Amino acid sequence: MFKSWLKLADRCEHCGLDYRFAAPDDGPAFFSLCIVALPLIFVVVWIQVAFEPPWWVHLLTSFPLLVAGCLLPLRPIKGWLVASQYVHKAQEAGTQALWDQLHGGK
Ligand SMILES: [Zn+2]
Repeated sequence: MFKSWLKLADRCEHCGLDYRFAAPDDGPAFFSLCIVALPLIFVVVWIQVAFEPPWWVHLLTSFPLLVAGCLLPLRPIKGWLVASQYVHKAQEAGTQALWDQLHGGK
């Protein structure tokens, strides 16, 4: 469903579903922050308080962990949000006409 790292394709390559309805916006970043980054911050703070390592330990461990932890979940989270949006027929105000057009007026 993606044509690049986070860019949605125009249509599903399997069933032809039109992805114009999909608008997860900041959702992936929000969930990535809440689910991955915040807990990771607590781990990093705990490491600092418990072991008091020199600063370069964080550069080698915490920093790459945080970057990977924030970026890697973005794509699956975005896919999940688009799927939920489709399943629950979530729509913004004013997109009823687009939905009707995409789903043959149902
Ligand atoms: Zn499909």
